[in-house]
Amino acid sequence: MRLALPAAFVALLAATPALADVPKVVASIKPVHALVAAIMQGVGEPSLIVRGAASPHTYALRPSDAHALAEADLVFWIGPELEGFLAKPLEATATKATAVELMEAPGVTLLDAREGGAWDPHDHGAGNDHGHDHAHGHGHDEGHEEVNTHVWLDPDNARAMVVAIADALEAKDAAHADAYRANAERTARGLAALDAELKATLAPVQDKPFIVFHDAYQYFEAHYGLNGVGAITVNPERRPSAKRLSDIRAKITSLGAVCVFAEPQFEPALVDTIVQGTKARKGVLDPEGAGLSDGPDLYPTLLRNIAASLKGCLAS
Ligand SMILES: [Zn+2]
Repeated sequence: MRLALPAAFVALLAATPALADVPKVVASIKPVHALVAAIMQGVGEPSLIVRGAASPHTYALRPSDAHALAEADLVFWIGPELEGFLAKPLEATATKATAVELMEAPGVTLLDAREGGAWDPHDHGAGNDHGHDHAHGHGHDEGHEEVNTHVWLDPDNARAMVVAIADALEAKDAAHADAYRANAERTARGLAALDAELKATLAPVQDKPFIVFHDAYQYFEAHYGLNGVGAITVNPERRPSAKRLSDIRAKITSLGAVCVFAEPQFEPALVDTIVQGTKARKGVLDPEGAGLSDGPDLYPTLLRNIAASLKGCLAS
């Protein structure tokens, strides 16, 4: 039997905000997208700008991205120091979107970028490599005290970001406030459990020295008390000089680095050259989720994979 609804009731349903008007949300990079997707679960889905194996360090905005930004109500990003390609579009007067810079979110801890590729404070007079490789190169060429932009790799920062994301969504879309709150609480509990799991995973390898491709892991290392001793390059957009490479090889030997980690996006062949003739093993770390599927599960998978790669290489 078909139930005929009174016309007035049908009109009321159509006008109920809960059934319509989910804000159009854009996220810059995969880890941010994952946290936003977790908070929007059951309500809607954010779209993502830096997709696939692309890196925010080398990304150029496409016309489809510009279109998504023009349509957006809310944009979540880390900040202009990381996603420089978003700075101008977000300032454009045609954009109606509220942009939420998560690096500035309350409770997010920031760390100053470490100096030099081997971040050794006593290394300053050692070579002429210092000047041009200085800092992360996200558009701040004159930078002095630059901030390391990879803030999402500290799970405490992720928890602070989750609160900021839920607040911004609620401000735009009060009709779904309860869903955003419940999702934020569930996500925060998940992050706390993940953190406890990773502390246990990493405890046995805390003292093992290792070298990374670029310094994306400072937050992760600080949070878990790990012993990262250097990076191959401070600027992943530039190929390191021959002198840098020989300096890194010398560091591997003098510091007894157990592993050298490549990244999926950036010249893994370079790592072969670097470890040749040393006792160091090779591994791969993915700081941005290049090889992972988008969605709410990406964030915990990203951190678990980093922990598993570190443990796998350093403990063997
Ligand atoms: Zn980076």
